[in-house]
Parts: sequence; structure tokens; C-alpha cells
Amino acid sequence: MNAVVAPTLSSRAWMDVSLSPDERARLLAEAMTDDERIGLLHSLMAVPLAKGYAIPEGAVPGSGYVPPIPRLGFPGLFETDASLGVANMADARPGDVATAAPSGLCMASTWDPVLARAAGAMIADEAARKGFNVLLGPGANLTRDPRCGRNFEYLGEDPLLAGVLAGAAIRGVQQEGVVACLKHFILNDQETGRHVVNAVIEDGALRESDLLAFQIAIERGAPGSVMSGYNRINGHYACAHEPLLNGVLKGDWAFPGWVMSDWGALSGVEAANAGCDQQSGAQLDHAVWFAEPLKAAMKAGAVSASRVQDMCERILRSLFAVGVFDRPSRAGEPIDFDAHEKLAQTVAEDGAVLLRNQGGLLPLAETVGTILVVGGLADLGVISGAGSSQVTPRGGFAAVQSLGGEGDLSVWMSEHYHPASPLKAIRKRAPNARVRFSNGRYPSEAVAMAAKADVAIVFATQWMGEGFDAPDLTLPNGQDALIAAVAAVNPRTIVILETGGPVLMPWLQDVAAVLEAWYPGSAGGEAIAALLFGDVSPSGRLPMTFPATETQLPRASIAGTGQRWAVPRGPAVDVARQPSFDAPHDEGADVGYRWHARNGATPLFPFGFGLSYTDFRYGNLEVTGGATLTVSFDVTNVGDRLGADTPQVYLVDRAGQALVRLIGWQKVVLAPSQTVRVSVSADRRLLADFDSRARGWSVPAGRYGVAVGACATDLALTGGADIEAALLAP
Ligand code: BGC
Repeated sequence: MNAVVAPTLSSRAWMDVSLSPDERARLLAEAMTDDERIGLLHSLMAVPLAKGYAIPEGAVPGSGYVPPIPRLGFPGLFETDASLGVANMADARPGDVATAAPSGLCMASTWDPVLARAAGAMIADEAARKGFNVLLGPGANLTRDPRCGRNFEYLGEDPLLAGVLAGAAIRGVQQEGVVACLKHFILNDQETGRHVVNAVIEDGALRESDLLAFQIAIERGAPGSVMSGYNRINGHYACAHEPLLNGVLKGDWAFPGWVMSDWGALSGVEAANAGCDQQSGAQLDHAVWFAEPLKAAMKAGAVSASRVQDMCERILRSLFAVGVFDRPSRAGEPIDFDAHEKLAQTVAEDGAVLLRNQGGLLPLAETVGTILVVGGLADLGVISGAGSSQVTPRGGFAAVQSLGGEGDLSVWMSEHYHPASPLKAIRKRAPNARVRFSNGRYPSEAVAMAAKADVAIVFATQWMGEGFDAPDLTLPNGQDALIAAVAAVNPRTIVILETGGPVLMPWLQDVAAVLEAWYPGSAGGEAIAALLFGDVSPSGRLPMTFPATETQLPRASIAGTGQRWAVPRGPAVDVARQPSFDAPHDEGADVGYRWHARNGATPLFPFGFGLSYTDFRYGNLEVTGGATLTVSFDVTNVGDRLGADTPQVYLVDRAGQALVRLIGWQKVVLAPSQTVRVSVSADRRLLADFDSRARGWSVPAGRYGVAVGACATDLALTGGADIEAALLAP
């Protein structure tokens, strides 16, 4: 046995706050025994995975646990999911609840980094009070295909928007002394066969799209950790991808934090040399690679002692940088759920996107007589997305509806409703109206009632979840037919969408109004009612293109659709030996609106689109060039009520080459007749192409054309300026 002497408090040199996080990490890692160091490099999943499974002693039941080392004052790692609130998978902390933030796409629709930061801080505050010090989010994979089951967790299709919002969320999390983990690095953009799929993409295109989103998020947020995904990229597992982990992330970007594998994603000990620093949920892998096998590899000289030291230092460095060692624990302190639900409501209100409002039907007048509410379990609550991000809300779920299904992840195949009933909120907001409800199971019943109502509000839900992709973009369970039937008898039909992402709307021309409310979280019902009655003017803008048909998408179906692929659970399945398949990313960096522009396709609703109860005008454009573009213009509220607008600036012409790239935006709140001047300077990488051979961002010299508008296809002002050539560091 090692004779290990506990250092006295005064000899814990790493507790000297005047030292840098790197220095403190080095001192502590050096003070550790070999076993202590190895112990840091794998976390255990601390939820009851199966009947009779023991949660590791000392763990706060949650996604991951690394035991403390009391003799050194190492506090341990207590990890939880994640970006939409503190999860409680499998009710591992019996009865424990949390505030459910609206979905990532709802957050992204706010285009508001201040709000993203506040929401990150809110979630981390709850995590800290539950005893966690690592939050496994945010997720910033670009939403390349609207059928992907996890889009609802992510921040949309544009690298600047996703990067800025993820960076802000990370800042919010870490200001609470909780380490954020940006995930899933990289191109983990489909759930079908996620453990074996091989994303194929050209290097430069990857830099300009998903990698750029992560790069911006890391620069702005400085997350302590990055999670490498399940998938392969150009033939190598994300968790063992030397060129991406050591080359791009730690090399080009000098990321000082640690890379943790996703749960059940590590294929072997060689990942250590490729840049993976920690194995997560180690019981889920074929072996606890970063324990005995890593020791053996060190002995055999396959992994160096200095690399193991580096792995430890990266983990410790992030903990020091975020203040985990220096701040008193808040575990057990009470949570201010009322305040947090108010914030969740603000996000839901600011993130809902008004897609249609014929004849100004909305906001609804106070004097409306009979309102019929139909479907969506609106009498009980609002739907949420499934998987590791699932939050158990205060008061418990309003409803849990099993969807049936087979396979390893079928435990997640249930619709969970948060107890924020839109029906109740509408009744509360319109006490003098006669508000009736039809559950929509039989369209004939809804139709009979709708014919007699002044207004019909149909709630339509689309459940999406981790581990599954949607086969198509229809609303399931005959909801499209229900909406069409109601609209046929009531021209004042309003559709509220609670969806994981874009859906098709075959009934669009027949309904008066459509509000995309996404998964609106703990106060979703209240937010929807506030928007319907005009307490708040809608200001959400789409962070994803809604295609008019699936044929507009880059691929006919998600790669691997229709086959059953291995989902490793525990040591029985060696993922590295499972058959893989390619997912070609032919769209390259032209994701979403850029793909539509490239093909001249007119979407159902474009990226950046969203209506308001007031109107805005843009004017007095000024564009200056030189090293980068600076674009200034006036925004005026020309309507008669207070409202927020998000004017967007796009690059539309680069030295004679037509393109469409979001290069900036500003969210402004304006009273009627108020004007504000907005100025946006472009990140030069958005003017550039990534030159893989020169390993840098290449900006061609020439005349650059910009446009300012309300969305990617409605560009009111145009101008331009000359830009100098440059080759920027990667
Ligand atoms: C998900 C991650 C999550 C982890 C831990 C995995 O299935 O892909 O996003 O953080 O589980 O729960």
C-alpha cells in the first residue's frame, strides 16, 4: 500500500488563489498518487441503470460522478444534465424537481444572449443547490436536418447564432461556479444509428459550419469542458479523433479545458492519445478504458505519464478556473422556483414565433365571446422533449403518455407534459369569455364545437426525443387533418405548435394564425396566453428554416433510416466492432437557409422570420469596409404598440460571389415611433472561407454586399464596402 501523507491545509499550495488555474492544477495533479490521477479520468453513471443497480456511494444521483479525494481537498465531480433544466433521470433522486426551461430552439428564437446567459445561470443555480458542480450542456450542434430527434436541445442552424447563444449560456452557468460542458463535438446531428454513424464532410465546410459554432461558443464562454459525441467523423470516432481533438480543439483553438466522452461513446484506450481526457459513464462502455487498461497502456509505453498528467491537469484547471474549489458548497440550499419559473416564462414568451396573423386576428380582444380550445392535452399542460435532457417539473408531470416501441432507448418513448396548462391560463386571462375544450380525439366533435365558437385555438404537438429521428415532418396522430377540419368550419382558427422543430403545414392557407411555441417549459401555458391576448408582443425569430416540402432538404431521408443499429449499453457490446454507415453531408457549410438560397428554393418560413403585433422600418444604412464590415442603420417602431425587433445583417455578395450569411443582429425593444441606431461589426471568419491547405481563414479582397432585413429572404436595405484580403489564424 502507498504510504500517503495528507498535506496540511497550509501545505495545499494549490489553494493559493493568487496562482493561475494552470499553476494550481499542476500543483494538485503532482500531489496525487498514480491511482488518484487515474481515478479522476473516468466518471461513473450514478442513476439506476437497471434493477438492483447500486448508485455509487457518495454520489449525488445524476449523470456522472467522480469521488472526492478528501486528503487533498479535491471536491469530486458531480455531473448532471443539462441545458433545459436539471434532469432527474429515472427519478434517481426520488421526487426531486426542477424548473423546465423552454427548449433550445425556443431559446435560440429569442436571439437574445442576455436571456441565454440568465437561463444558464438559473439552471446552474438549481444544479449547485442540488449538489452538482458540472452541467452537461449547452448543446450547439447545428440543426442540419429538421427530422433530427435532438434539434430541440440545440440552438439552430446558423454558426454565429448558435455560437453566440451557447457562449452566453456557458457564461451564465459558470458564473454560478458550475462547470459547463459544450456538446456534442462534433456533427452529432442525427440520432439514427448515432453510435455507429460516420458523418462525411469536407474539412473546410466543417470549419465554416459546426466547428465555427463551437469555436465562437468557446471563445465567448470559455467552457471548462467539451463533450465528444457518439458518431464518427470522416472515419474516426469523435472521442478518438486526433485531428479534431488535438489538432483543432486543443491545437488551433488552444482549448485549455477537458474533453469528456459521451456516455457509452468511448471505443478504447487509444482515445487518450487522440485528445480525450475523461471517460464518462464508464459502466456504459465495453470496458472502463481509462482505468486498468490505461494503466496497462502507460506501463507498455503506449500512453505517456505526461499525457496522463495533462489529462488530470485539464480537469483540475477548469475546476479552479470556474471557482469550484474556492466557493462554499450551496448543496441543500432552497431554490427560488417562483423566480425561476418567471424567467422560464420570459424565455417562452420571447422565443415563441408568430408565423401567421391574417387580418390581425391576434392579439385576441378582451371581448371575445366563445373560445374553443382543441387538442394537445392543452387542458393538462405543455409537451416536452425526451431523453437525457428531460426535466421533472415542480408539481410533477401533468401527464405521461407511453408511445410504446421497442429497443434499448424505448424507455424514453413517452410524452411528458409539464403542468402549465394553456387552457387554464386562457381561462384565467379571459374570465368573461366562454372557454370550451375538446380533446380533439374525434375531429367531428371538435368541428361541431368549432362551428359555434368565435375563435378556435388548436394545439398541435410533435414529440421528439434523444435516440430517435422523425421519419417525416407531418404532425403525428392525424393532427393535420384535425386542424384542417376545424379550419374548414371556423375561419378564425389559430394553431399553436408545440413542436421539436419545423413541421409542414398543409392547412396553412386555411387558418388565420399560427404561433410556434416550441417546447415552452414550466410556464408554457401562461406564456402562450400572454401572447394570445397581447400582454406581450411576439418577438421570436426562427433559428431554423421551415421547409415547404421535404424535397427541399439536402437528403431524402436521414442516413441509416429503417435499420436497427447497435446501441451499446454496458460491457456486452463493443461499439468499435459494430457495422458503421456513412452519412454524407453534401450540403457542407450551406446549412438551412444557405442550402435553400443555393438551390433557389422558397421555404415555408425562412430563417430569421417572425411577426409582431407592431411594425418596424429600417433606414439610413451605412456600410464601412477595410479589415471588416461595419453596418449601421436605424430601426423605427412604426406601429402603435411596444415591441421587440431583431433586425438581421446578411452578407449577400462577396467580391462578385452571391451568398447568404448572417453576419450580425441586434435585438431592440422600441416604443411606438421610437427609433434606435444599430451598429454591427462582422466577425471576419464570416467573410472568409476556410482554406484547409493554408490552415487559415481566407478573406478575398473586393466589394462586399450586405443587406439588412427582417429575415434571410426579406432584405429591405442593401449596401456595400471594399474589404482587404487577409489570411486569419485558424
Ligand atoms: C447524451 C448526452 C448526455 C449524457 C449523460 C447521453 O446519452 O448524449 O447529451 O449528457 O447521455 O446523460
